[in-house]
Amino acid sequence: MSPMLDVSDAVRAEIGEAEAERLLAGENAPGSYDCTSCRAPGDTHKERTSTVLFVGEETAVLAFAHANCIPSQVVSLSEEQLKGAVRNLAPDGPPQQAQPAPAPQTPRPPAQATSPEASSLPRTDQRQAVLGVTCGQVLIDENLHPAIVVEPTGPIARPGSDGPGDDFLPLLIEQGFLPVTEVAQPPAQVPGWSVLLAMGQLHAILMPPTGTGTQPVAWWQAHQPLAVTEGWRTAATKGHKVLVYAAPAGSIGQQPREDLLREALEKAAAGGVLVAAAMPLAGT
Ligand SMILES: [Zn+2]
Repeated sequence: MSPMLDVSDAVRAEIGEAEAERLLAGENAPGSYDCTSCRAPGDTHKERTSTVLFVGEETAVLAFAHANCIPSQVVSLSEEQLKGAVRNLAPDGPPQQAQPAPAPQTPRPPAQATSPEASSLPRTDQRQAVLGVTCGQVLIDENLHPAIVVEPTGPIARPGSDGPGDDFLPLLIEQGFLPVTEVAQPPAQVPGWSVLLAMGQLHAILMPPTGTGTQPVAWWQAHQPLAVTEGWRTAATKGHKVLVYAAPAGSIGQQPREDLLREALEKAAAGGVLVAAAMPLAGT
């Protein structure tokens, strides 16, 4: 029986026609796997499964996900992140989940998502200020919504300017984020942005392609994939949506509990220093 595998054109182009056919014929596909998105077990013989190719600068790793969780796609990661992802896969799964993908037949173009000049927003300024990221669930309309709160460690200057001001919020508002006056009101979706959850962990917040690019680029990328709680992950994969809040340095701070995070968000909203946007999971 052939596995029920989805191999997208992008994945096919990377792994090559022959390898794609072998996968579809069941020669190279696993039976059971842990879904790379929600981490729950899956079975290629029982449910539609997406092939997900993680591509670093030098290596690539083929992984599998429930088709309901994410569609078949190529995900660009830094080599560092890819190694983290493989380490992550290896301990609790059979080795075929982390089998190296065959070398692509054509030289790989530089990975867009990891090239600093491919992006325009605060990325260029992260050398001075780092974006701190906290995951928590926020209660809106009696439902818990998975949320990410982003707060830089210092002022973010507009690329090219060396003034002392903090342009973090204006830069995000230019990108479609909206000021939050009421945390009880869910933020609107911002087109082209998404949240990359892979191997059950938070990897990046992606923004629309810049310049001549066609692939989304990482606005924020985890140095080390960020662990999220079971509840957060379940809510995110079920609703395919994450609320991303951002506030300038010093307005939220480290909050050890979700109710305190909520309070801090409300304080920032009342002070007019909170922006937000809803984003789908990458690829959905
Ligand atoms: Zn899944």
